[in-house]
Amino acid sequence: MARIVMKFGGTSMAGIERIRNVANRVKHEVDLGNEVAVVVSAMSGETDRLVNFCREASPLYDPREYDVVVASGEQVTSGLLAIVLQSLGVKARSWLGWQLPIRTSDAHASARIETINSEAIGKAMAAGEVAVIPGFQGMTVDDRVTTLGRGGSDTSAVAVAAAMKADRCDIYTDVDGVYTTDPRIVPKARKLAKVTYEEMLELASVGAKVLQTRSVGLAMKERVRVQVLSSFDQPTDNPTPGTMIVGEDEIEGTTMERQLITGIAYDKNETKVTLTAVPDRPGAVASIFAPLADANINVDMIVQNVAHDTGSTDVTFTVPTAELARSLDVLERERGTIGYERLIHDTNVAKISVVGVGMRSHAGVASKMFDALAARGINVLAITTSEIKVSVLINEDYTELAVRVLHTAYGLDAEDAA
Ligand code: ASP
Ligand code: MG
Repeated sequence: MARIVMKFGGTSMAGIERIRNVANRVKHEVDLGNEVAVVVSAMSGETDRLVNFCREASPLYDPREYDVVVASGEQVTSGLLAIVLQSLGVKARSWLGWQLPIRTSDAHASARIETINSEAIGKAMAAGEVAVIPGFQGMTVDDRVTTLGRGGSDTSAVAVAAAMKADRCDIYTDVDGVYTTDPRIVPKARKLAKVTYEEMLELASVGAKVLQTRSVGLAMKERVRVQVLSSFDQPTDNPTPGTMIVGEDEIEGTTMERQLITGIAYDKNETKVTLTAVPDRPGAVASIFAPLADANINVDMIVQNVAHDTGSTDVTFTVPTAELARSLDVLERERGTIGYERLIHDTNVAKISVVGVGMRSHAGVASKMFDALAARGINVLAITTSEIKVSVLINEDYTELAVRVLHTAYGLDAEDAA
């Protein structure tokens, strides 16, 4: 017997027929003798619809009321799933965020889970009743409804799994696992059996949008074993394995067979910003990045060019394109303090990242990347590295080519696999 948290995304919950499939899958786990709690998303498209209502009502909507509106999508699906489970003879009831409760910070529309009272879920599990919990929602200390940010029901599921000390958190989604890269770009991409939390964090934050990034960080901190699975397969005793997201220790034994690189991700949502002729003196760089940080703008790649004879230098960096307008505003305001000449930006760039814990113990990962790109005439505009990641910024038009070339260069293509 295992204790399992099952999470179903919006595609799996879109309509009663699909909810019936979900219920059958839940019943299957219950019939195997497992203790099960379920976390659900709203029907796909529903949250967008609710967000639009708020915008239409007033562009300057009160975020506390926005949360009341958008949290309702999950209330509907959790109740419906409980009804369908009951109709299949499975004991079930819904537990809304405020009923448990799931306490969060008061950062409306992007609240963080602080505590989950697991008493009710524990009692339900002990009584053989399935607790159906709407994802995405919680409540502040002063009893206002909150939501966790888009895609937040993944984080709800991991948090419930952590609170219940579940053996596994199974996330059913419309992809059947985590791939070496986007299979729409590289048909020879392979499904990974296992990936470490750290790798998944890097892959999620650089564009592999399988899970909400925050849910991966939480899983890593709480050591929750997360499995990504397809919601479209029929439940069987030997389901097609998805991808397990685990600690590095669980992969250790197989290091020998492990690829140097685990996956390749791309992100077209960054913009390159360049300040020309910034005075080359101590404090100059701080005068650029401190006000951006104060404005909560996440600067990613940074390149400072060699100084001109004139005692000035160009500084290039990237910001999320969604934050571009705010970034330019901050930089223009600080122009006097920073003392640059021109402010230039380019949205036609993409960040390509190769990720793998295997590179910790191997040299030459970056140079292989640069060689492979150079061979195709792809120019590198900026570089960043971490212990398990090398990222380059390139012209966006070459994104697909770069991903394909690197996938082959690192031996990730399916037919190359041993
Ligand atoms: N329904 C919410 C959204 O669409 C939360 C989720 O599905 O994870 O963002
Ligand atoms: Mg999602």
